[in-house]
Amino acid sequence: MNQKILMEKLEAHQIPVSLQRIHILSFLFENPGHYRAEEVYETLKPKVPTLSKSTVYNTLHLFSEKGLLRTLSLEEGVTHYDAMMEDHAHFICEQCHQITNVPLQEALPQIDLPGTQIHQKDLIYRGICQKCLV
Ligand SMILES: [Zn+2]
Ligand SMILES: [Zn+2]
Repeated sequence: MNQKILMEKLEAHQIPVSLQRIHILSFLFENPGHYRAEEVYETLKPKVPTLSKSTVYNTLHLFSEKGLLRTLSLEEGVTHYDAMMEDHAHFICEQCHQITNVPLQEALPQIDLPGTQIHQKDLIYRGICQKCLV
């Protein structure tokens, strides 16, 4: 993805631009998926040798706080980061733990909870995937 677009994305979310943030963001947008922080680190390390594990952790945390990524806690104690911000559901296979995006016909309903602020809406289906059922 064009570096200028990535910089604008960071700025639009009030995140100070840095080269490492650009690298992380570009990876997440070019390879849509659901990643653990370690996976992002392991994938980017060969390309960005100056990158440290804690930078990746902190950056992903910052991105999700600023609404640039959604976080998924589908397995206990494991956070996955997802760069697809449009409403969508997830299917997780209980056997291989593969996470699949499920498109929604309609956006998830807006609920009325006075005095609260909704940051993310989650809809999760769990079961066994096609591959594991064979
Ligand atoms: Zn499976
Ligand atoms: Zn997703």
